[in-house]
Amino acid sequence: MIEAREALERLRDGNRRFVSDIRSSGAPTGPARRNELASGQEPFAIILGCSDSRVPAEIVFDQGLGDLFVIRVAGNIVAPSQVGSVEFSAERYGTRLVVVLGHSQCGAILATLEELARPSEDQSRNLRSIVDRIRPSVASLLATEPGYAPEALMREAVRANIRVSTNHLRHGSDVLESLIRNAGLLVVGAEYSLETGVVEFFDEK
Ligand SMILES: [Zn+2]
Repeated sequence: MIEAREALERLRDGNRRFVSDIRSSGAPTGPARRNELASGQEPFAIILGCSDSRVPAEIVFDQGLGDLFVIRVAGNIVAPSQVGSVEFSAERYGTRLVVVLGHSQCGAILATLEELARPSEDQSRNLRSIVDRIRPSVASLLATEPGYAPEALMREAVRANIRVSTNHLRHGSDVLESLIRNAGLLVVGAEYSLETGVVEFFDEK
């Protein structure tokens, strides 16, 4: 089993390689690795990230087959199936690091801001279920700091949403709470910059 702190270092190193455009020879994706993994996996980190085509976890962290257990959903929101997926990997594979990976210019956050400014009647129920998960953190941001310029508001809203998802995973599951307390599970937030490729980790309690 790979401890959370070591897993975090691996992700930081991988992201540094990605940013420097040095692809790792140590991120195997070939037939030999595929065969080795056919009988089992031990992913060292769980990534709950956004579906955005520009933020594929394996690429931005320069990792190979079998390294990351990835859950992607627009706006990196946390609903029961996401919590269940995190529980599954943490319990079954012993993964000890969970990263909630948001990113700059997130379309789901933008859609939520637009919805708050101009509520639409005809939004699909399914899309609404995503916006509704993001809405409370953005609304409370607007309530406490009504004077944000649009760019600053977008940046803060992305971060607020990452914090909400992170806290939901930390406190919204008995299984995860117990793993945090007794087994060294670490849940951290992170933000990927579309502009620089850098992942900034925060809230590393
Ligand atoms: Zn996004």
